[in-house]
Amino acid sequence: MDLRLSAAEESFRAEVSDWLDANLPPDFDPDRFEFGMTADERWDWQLAWHRRLHAGGWVGLHWPREYGGRGATLMEQVIFADELAKRRLPAGANLLGILLVGPTLMQWGTEAQKKRFLPKILSAEEIWCQGYSEPGSGSDLASLQTRAVRDGDAFVVNGQKVWTSGAHRADWCILLARTDPEAPKHRGISYLLVDMRSPGITVRPLVQMTGSAGFNEVFFEDVRVPRANLVGEEHRGWEVAITTLMFERAGLGTDLRFEGALESLVAAARHARRAGRPAIEDPGVREQLAQFAIEATALRYSGYRQLTRRLKGQPPGPEGSMAKLVGSELNLRMAQYAVALLGPAAQIDTNEAGEPPGHWLARELMARAHTIAGGTSEIQRNILAERVLGLPR
Ligand SMILES: Cc1cc2nc3c(=O)[nH]c(=O)nc-3n(C[C@H](O)[C@H](O)[C@H](O)COP(=O)(O)OP(=O)(O)OC[C@H]3O[C@@H](n4cnc5c(N)ncnc54)[C@H](O)[C@@H]3O)c2cc1C
Repeated sequence: MDLRLSAAEESFRAEVSDWLDANLPPDFDPDRFEFGMTADERWDWQLAWHRRLHAGGWVGLHWPREYGGRGATLMEQVIFADELAKRRLPAGANLLGILLVGPTLMQWGTEAQKKRFLPKILSAEEIWCQGYSEPGSGSDLASLQTRAVRDGDAFVVNGQKVWTSGAHRADWCILLARTDPEAPKHRGISYLLVDMRSPGITVRPLVQMTGSAGFNEVFFEDVRVPRANLVGEEHRGWEVAITTLMFERAGLGTDLRFEGALESLVAAARHARRAGRPAIEDPGVREQLAQFAIEATALRYSGYRQLTRRLKGQPPGPEGSMAKLVGSELNLRMAQYAVALLGPAAQIDTNEAGEPPGHWLARELMARAHTIAGGTSEIQRNILAERVLGLPR
């Protein structure tokens, strides 16, 4: 593993850094963006930021040039993500479209589908959501019950999805539906592209304990989906769905950054008091902070190891489950520790001088979600046990 950047990579970093510094919206305040805006304000901000990134050619960095991307190497993507993270800047607005849907269509879509959908994914003119999970099917996704029945040149869809992130803002949905109920469960599923404005779709936002409503229940009642919107073969959508999940797992966990959180945890330890003294003077607290720093560093180096694998041309393997598991659990433990350290003061959530730093309560309430989304911690442990450690089922 060679951690140095080549001259070309160094110059790419300089180019990214210069562009971001020149184009950073002057009113950008990362704390306000994460914790101080309403969901609508945040979305508007992110859309405007997306347009700016797109105009600069920074959206879909990893997409091939023929599809409007930049054809960036893996290292260039890492550098770009790094420069965003340093400034606590978010990526653009159409994350699921760009990370999951676009790459899946590049692999499985017809020429007509690629031509129709890819440019508008990049520009965020069309926002996408992922209709996989159902009330009775999450971890065991292949047990899904939403039905799609062929009727002439269309499928007619009936059923319900749940936890559909961003469905309330989405124009399109990648939908898994059962087309052959007689076949073994992985065999009878098809992968459809569904226009969210089709008659028969009802979207109901779910309010989370953070107070915001990021995901939804989505109901399908006799929704007609043109046959041209089938991706891959009929009844063989599971293979397409797995491609999407591989792209999802490869991206999850690696996007959790700890430098800022560690800094803010140290600030919380300076703010909190133990026996009349700043908590950071307590050796037990210092030891725990050091332990978090060690784990975050170990995670970063494991990430580099995975990156090296990918640079050698190997696909993201089940090791991606390790980053997802360890990253999301560390993120949760750090938030829980900060809230315990601050005590009732953690409930005060302002940016005023003298108030506890870090918005730790909001972070704790959100942190649990990362241990569930994209495959729960228990499921990641199962994958690691079976496919990495080779333990018996
Ligand atoms: C923030 C967030 C965003 C999401 N966004 C989307 C989205 O956009 N689109 C979408 O389709 N879904 C989305 N989801 C849903 C997510 O994929 C599911 O919540 C997840 O896969 C778990 O499924 P479930 O909720 O049905 O739990 P279940 O599968 O019912 O699991 C319940 C519990 O049982 C455990 N368990 C289940 N099976 C096993 C097993 N074999 N071994 C050991 N333990 C097991 C689980 O770990 C869990 O603790 C989102 C979830 C979250 C939290």
